[in-house]
Amino acid sequence: MKYAEEFRDPAAARAVLERIATMADRIGATPESPVRIMEICGGHTHAIFRYGLDKLVHPGIEFIHGPGCPVCVLPMSRVDECVALAERAEVILATFGDAMRVPGTRKSLLQAKADGADIRMVYSPLDALELARRNPDREVVFFGLGFETTTPSTALSIQQAAREGLGNFSVFCNHITVPPPIKALLDDPHMGLDGFVGPGHVSMVIGIHPYDFIARDYGKPIVVAGFEPLDLLQSVLMVLDQIATGRAEVENQYARVVPEHGNPVSLAAIADVYEPRPSFEWRGLGEIEESGLRIRPVYAAWDAEAKFAIGYGAGRRVVAEPEGCACGAVMTGRIKPTDCPQFGRGCTPEMPLGALMVSSEGACAAYWQYGGARAAAE
Ligand code: SF4
Repeated sequence: MKYAEEFRDPAAARAVLERIATMADRIGATPESPVRIMEICGGHTHAIFRYGLDKLVHPGIEFIHGPGCPVCVLPMSRVDECVALAERAEVILATFGDAMRVPGTRKSLLQAKADGADIRMVYSPLDALELARRNPDREVVFFGLGFETTTPSTALSIQQAAREGLGNFSVFCNHITVPPPIKALLDDPHMGLDGFVGPGHVSMVIGIHPYDFIARDYGKPIVVAGFEPLDLLQSVLMVLDQIATGRAEVENQYARVVPEHGNPVSLAAIADVYEPRPSFEWRGLGEIEESGLRIRPVYAAWDAEAKFAIGYGAGRRVVAEPEGCACGAVMTGRIKPTDCPQFGRGCTPEMPLGALMVSSEGACAAYWQYGGARAAAE
């Protein structure tokens, strides 16, 4: 198949859905005792709701929406630190747009901008580099955020700043990695996950082998998937087939895009610029070992944590979630977004209380956009 329409072909989708139903019956999946498949990536969550796949698959299959939206898992304390950075008179804070509305304790970046902070939305860290070149008398700080998908471009911007000797550019690094939270979820006895649909974009960078431990150590299947309806349905079928045949393997449904060993140029940039933090806080999940990246000391001149004495370590301030916010329970699949008492009441995309309602990849925002708003109104 070459064109997107072919991955949305209704007849082909119906055929895969029938095979999924047969397989689900074969392994005894029922609504009372479902097969629980976690899609890790927020892009997959969005696609599942956009195409109504959760309603189309056999009722014995339950999608659990994982912590794969980087904006959603950013802890409130880091938003606060970013707001404080942006409020410094000498700073221009450059950020992707989806981080603007994430609530902090005092305010979001959007509110800080309304209050006079110099915050610019950019489409790439290279735009932030250009801002630094054009504003030599200001400190330009890029809000580095995201999984392995965006980590390399931030690394390249730091390498470029180092090459140019651009001393007024730095990165507030909040990059995180996918495998450690999966391990944390698998170690949680309450999760009861039967398999995973693995992230497509992240895997373009890291390849499929960082997930080997899921099959080897936990005996769970994982299938790296694309983002079209047929990609996702095929991946669910592949997970079910592994369960039915007693296998636990890492399979690659998205081989047209994901190389087995990832992207060597991106991996080299990541290894050059970052090192793992001993642990990093995830909103709703708590501290997870070696799940965050920090900038190596050799690049300290471009590290906003070093430059502005922010740091991340013992004694740091941990901020509780707002009263009534159930983001952690949603992110770990314990409840559905519509089960949160705030859904559609104290929390909407216009006035988000929790981060899952902010980003388009957040589970609550996806529910809202594709039927949740109607459900809340009813
Ligand atoms: S509805 Fe809002 S508060 Fe509730 S889980 Fe979703 S984002 Fe969090």
